Amino acid sequence: MAHVISDECVSCGACESECPVGAIAMGDDHMQINADACVDCGACEAACPTGAISAE
Ligand code: SF4
Repeated sequence: MAHVISDECVSCGACESECPVGAIAMGDDHMQINADACVDCGACEAACPTGAISAE
């Protein structure tokens, strides 16, 4: 299990600093979560202004 970022992401970067394990980085089109690093804490979900982050 890992959280995922959808196309609704506007690449604002608000989630990146909230992740305790550094699993979020800029991807090709928008921010992406490294599924291998994500511990499913949900901290990034609350930080997202567009609701683009959800549990997979
Ligand atoms: Fe990072 Fe937690 Fe979001 Fe996973 S759910 S990307 S560990 S902040």
